[in-house]
Amino acid sequence: MKWLLRRCVRCGKYTLSRSKCPYCGGELQVPHPPRFSLEDKYVALRIRMKLESKQLDLDKKPFYVID
Ligand SMILES: [Zn+2]
Repeated sequence: MKWLLRRCVRCGKYTLSRSKCPYCGGELQVPHPPRFSLEDKYVALRIRMKLESKQLDLDKKPFYVID
């Protein structure tokens, strides 16, 4: 997800402007930088482990799929 909202470093106001703060002309930064998550790193591995242990079968339709 891309953050459209920027925050001025100088005055702290939020703006959709990408270059400079429309209020004071200060530098802008993305207020919520994506955080490194150890959890995400292992999602692919967990799915693979499930597939290999036959707990997850992709050929079989999940119970919530209705024909
Ligand atoms: Zn500003």
